[in-house]
Amino acid sequence: MRDINFLTENNGKPIWHPMAHPAEMRAQPPKIIMKGEGVSVTDIDGRTVIDAVGGLWNVNLGYSCDPIKQAIAAQLEALPYYSGFRGTSTGPSIELAYELTEWFGPEGMARVFFTSGGSDSVETALRLARQYWKIRGQADRTKFLALKKGYHGTHFGGASVNGNANFRRNYEPLMPGVFHIPAPWVYRNPFDESDPARLAKLCAKALEDEIAFQGADTIAAFIMEPVLGAGGVIVPHESFMGLVREICHRHGILLIADEVVTGFGRAGAWSGSRLWGVKPDMMTMAKAITSGYFPLGATLIGEAVADVFESDKTSFGAIGHGYTYSGHPVGCAAGLAALAETRRLRLDENAARRGAELATALERLKTRHDIVGDVRGRGLMAALELVSDHASKKPADKKTMSAVADAAYEAGVMIRVSGNNIILSPPLMLTARDVEAIAAGLDAGL
Ligand code: PLP
Repeated sequence: MRDINFLTENNGKPIWHPMAHPAEMRAQPPKIIMKGEGVSVTDIDGRTVIDAVGGLWNVNLGYSCDPIKQAIAAQLEALPYYSGFRGTSTGPSIELAYELTEWFGPEGMARVFFTSGGSDSVETALRLARQYWKIRGQADRTKFLALKKGYHGTHFGGASVNGNANFRRNYEPLMPGVFHIPAPWVYRNPFDESDPARLAKLCAKALEDEIAFQGADTIAAFIMEPVLGAGGVIVPHESFMGLVREICHRHGILLIADEVVTGFGRAGAWSGSRLWGVKPDMMTMAKAITSGYFPLGATLIGEAVADVFESDKTSFGAIGHGYTYSGHPVGCAAGLAALAETRRLRLDENAARRGAELATALERLKTRHDIVGDVRGRGLMAALELVSDHASKKPADKKTMSAVADAAYEAGVMIRVSGNNIILSPPLMLTARDVEAIAAGLDAGL
């Protein structure tokens, strides 16, 4: 690798960074992260901070997970790549698919389609949903429903079901036939409802109304994150996903659970669907599937959906979809090691325990700092929503948000800013001391 001066001089120039303006990155180059150890990362200036972002919701096992590193090295030595397209397969992909169907057996998942990441997994689920209805002779079922504030990646399909204008406007027109209903977001909702259970019912009613308006026989699927992540960690009332499941079931609409963030323990249960006691028809996974050590994703297919494909007598059953890296053997080897470690360390339980401690600490910050309008979270996904005025809930401005992030970094904690939210999604092997350190860094930042 070239020297540090080269990196600093070229930082923010040849790369167009995701979710950033190229000119802004030139003016304010990003931090160059050089090393990771445990739950911390070190930048090019030698400053070590706790990574309260966990990479990007994905480094659940921290940066020193030797079993994953060794599994990757061993697989690279044995077979760095082979395709999973018709005619060939690889050992790690077969093994990981088997493990995933076991792991998510309680959610009713029976088959696995491998992808290269979360956006691919969402795209796969949307396409399989359309195909499912063609096989079943209901080709009119093409529409999708989703939640406002939901995030489902950036492919055209995923962006279309995204419920946030920031990820849509510059790329419109998107896929037609997608409709959004209000998210069960207590702090801000169009019903002015502050009771979470009542709000869940109102949002479910909005779903029911939209289905009636569109016609159930035109709708392929409803997609939702069990806990909304990028939209600002919106935690629905525990009844909400069950209500959605019941409505979808009654109207024959497929339910896709986007578990790209909530899969593998982050919300304090192995999946968000399991947290809410719901069996979706498909689940999308990525991120923590390899703890971020290798790009990989998966779409899981429930038993009833799989049966329709596998007993197909039409010309629609073959899967005309896939990626060069579907089932990448190195990614799957990394995934097997990550799952084994996640299970061995019981990271779901740790996320629940540490998440409760973090929630208490964040509530305390809310009482200490007027700028904190709302605190939300479940397990080790949390958000602090910053406002310039409590009564009007006017969002804190961009300058304030970056000042808070910079000050927290100075105090030893990496946090992520999304709009007027501070998002926290630290590694799941966090200790109680790490929680205290994160809270102290945030306190200083605020
Ligand atoms: N779905 C959800 C819920 C996500 O949070 C994300 C990414 O943050 C995606 C899909 C897209 O995943 P990726 O960035 O790996 O394409």
